[in-house]
Parts: sequence; C-alpha cells; structure tokens
Amino acid sequence: MTGSYFMELEYRYGAHNYKPIPVVIEKGEGVWVWDVEGNKYLDMLSAYSALNHGHRHPKIIEALRRQTEKLTLTSRAFYNNLLGQFEEKLALFSGYEKVLPMNTGAEAVESALKIARKWAYYKKGIPMNKGNIIVAEGNFHGRTITIVSFSTEEQYRDGFGPYTPGFKVAPFGDSKAVEKLIDDETIGVLVEPIQGEGGVRVPPEGYLRELREICSKHRALLLFDEIQTGLGRTGKIFAWHWEDAKPDILILGKALGGGVYPVSAVLANDQIMDVLKPGDHGSTFGGNPLAAAVGIAAIEVLENERLDLRAFELGEYFMKQLRSIESDYVKEVRGKGLLIGVEIKKEYGTARPFCEKLAKLGVLCKETHDQVVRFAPPLVIKSEEIDWALERISKVLTEPIQVKEKATENSQKAHPLKG
Ligand SMILES: *Cc1c(COP(=O)(O)O)cnc(C)c1O
Repeated sequence: MTGSYFMELEYRYGAHNYKPIPVVIEKGEGVWVWDVEGNKYLDMLSAYSALNHGHRHPKIIEALRRQTEKLTLTSRAFYNNLLGQFEEKLALFSGYEKVLPMNTGAEAVESALKIARKWAYYKKGIPMNKGNIIVAEGNFHGRTITIVSFSTEEQYRDGFGPYTPGFKVAPFGDSKAVEKLIDDETIGVLVEPIQGEGGVRVPPEGYLRELREICSKHRALLLFDEIQTGLGRTGKIFAWHWEDAKPDILILGKALGGGVYPVSAVLANDQIMDVLKPGDHGSTFGGNPLAAAVGIAAIEVLENERLDLRAFELGEYFMKQLRSIESDYVKEVRGKGLLIGVEIKKEYGTARPFCEKLAKLGVLCKETHDQVVRFAPPLVIKSEEIDWALERISKVLTEPIQVKEKATENSQKAHPLKG
C-alpha cells in the first residue's frame, strides 16, 4: 500500500481541518520515523514538542506497558494508587504545592483560567463575573471557544462566535503595555514565555521578569503557558527559569505525556488551588493511572538524561550552524534551546515549499505562521544527527527556488495529492 492510499482515505473520511505535509508515517524510534514505503526521516517537529523524549522512549513505553497490565482507568470517583505519586513527583519537580491533572493542553489552559477567575472573585474580591485577564497578541493557547475568543488570529476565530468576554490583548514582549491595561478588575496575565505557534517569537530580555514584578505589584496572577516551552525544550526545565520569573500558575502539557499519551496539568500553590472544591471542576480521564504512570516516567527520563542540558548545548550549536548558512531567503534565525525558527523573507513566498523540499530530503518540519520554518527535534537528538539535518537544510536554503506569484490561498481546501 502506498502513501497516497492512506492520504486519500483520510481525505475521504476525515474532517479537513489540517493540511499535512504529504508523508504517511508508520513507525518511529528516537528521532527517526519511517513512512509506509520504508523511507526514513528525521523528525524535526516532535509533534509540536510533545515528543521531547523522542519516539517510543523505552523507559516510557515500559511504564505504559506495565501499567496496561494492571489498571488503566478508574475515573476520579475513586482513588487510584498512581495519581498521588504522579502529583508528588510533578509538584516537587516543578516547585509547586498542588497539581490539577488534565489531558490536553487546551483543557489545562481552560482549567487555569477557571482557577484564576475563581481566585479573583473569592480571594482578591473582584466583583463577581467582572474580571479581566490580559493576554498577548499572537498568542496560541488551544482551540476551545473561550481560548479562540482571545486569539488574535482571524482564522482561529472566524465563524465560531459568540465569543467569551473578559480578555484584553497587549502586544507580545511589551510589559509596559501590559501594565497600562491593568485595572481594579484585572485577574491576571496569561502568556507563553516564547510564542511557539505564533512563529517562534522570543520576547526581549527582561519581559518575563517585568511581568512578574508588575503582577506582584498589582496583586494579579501571572500565568505561563509552558505547554510547548516547558520540560526542557528551551534549554531550561521551564522557560521561566531563564529569568527566574516564577508564575503563580504554570500550565504544562505535550511532553508531559512522554510522546505516548495525552497528559496535561495546572500547577499552583495551595492558596490559589484551594479555590477548587469537590464538584467545581473535573475530567473523566484526567489523572488516570495510565496517564500517571506515563507522566512519572516522562519526568524521570527528563531528569536522568538531562534533556534540558542537551537542549541548551545542542540548541546553541544548531542555531549557530543555521546562522552560518549563507541564504538569500532567510530573514532571521531565532529561538532558545531546541526551539528554533527560521523566518523566510516574504518576497520568496511562504515557508511551506521549504518544508516540502526538506521532507523529500528526509527532514520533517512544519511551517508556522506562513513565514517561519520551525526546527524542534526531540531533545534526545545527537549532534551527528543535527549535522545530517544541517546538510539538507543548507541545500534547501541555498538552491535556486521558483517563487509562485500567489501563495495558495485556498490551501485549506486543496486536495492533498493535487496542486
Ligand atoms: C499545543 C499548545 C496548546 C494546546 O494543546 P493541545 O494539547 O493541542 O490542546 C496550548 N498552548 C500552547 C503554548 C501550545 O503549544
């Protein structure tokens, strides 16, 4: 069976809310994946940083396998023997007193917003249902209706109203603009320490620290969405470590599931988390024993293999090498650790054709925000493997290209195999 068969099948029966790079993956191990025709690729996307540990890390697979032989689901109607162990591990590892376990990133963000709002009404004394939360322009926090309500990306919102009120938007990277928006009804500030989907946008130095100071001064909560930047990706365990700007509420997801299972969490100290009382919030699958076993293993691997240090060292090397490629097409190379964006100049079209060419050469990555190629390999990558990718990246960034007159505007609707 060739790849086109499976692509046709998805196209025929699946909702068309994605336009994948035309590669049908069948097997993965470490940083490598194989398609149904047996071609091998280096995964430089890592499922948007959900695969920090690489594909099928043996310790994580072993934890998953062993747990499937004992117990997989209880719901929170009962206790299970693993959840508390996972919560202890995650709390001590992250430096918070309490953990709220959820499944996907968007759910964790929603949960964090609920906790922040409740804290504001019951602890800070903001008039009921009148609070506002400040977010950043260019944000990405997921796809639920409340979250897209404060997205600044027209496509993410279009057709999904009416929207949830209670949010204000400040330019990303501008702490003064945030302070200007703060009023008596401000609950808190929610940002990503580096905007991943927004195009690997790194804020000016001091931004996180200034947000911390501003929030403390106004008794507003600081919320960091580290679903993509957390767990080693940027060269620190958490991106907030770069500026010692500890948020009141930390949101994790993606790599917390070790690349095998959806696991997300909200972390906070007692005086914030204790606004949740039995029945206030819940999730059938959140904190299930399988998730807990996988989450524990994911943190242990991160610690034992010092994936944060790997990301720090290899990220510096990778970025330096990328910057040394003499390419007419590149406007900027930016990032932190192994979260790196290469921005393509508009006059050379979008980043998409570069990603498609790289896929043909065996390097998988995905454009973000039209102009940016994101390179975010699993943190278990070796420097020889980075060199292997660099050879191909260098080729694609220096060979002549055909610039299409018009970028394919209907790309969302385009058939995967034609055009
Ligand atoms: C991926 C992501 C989310 C959403 O996570 P899902 O698991 O897809 O719901 C939220 N915030 C950030 C920063 C992300 O990168």
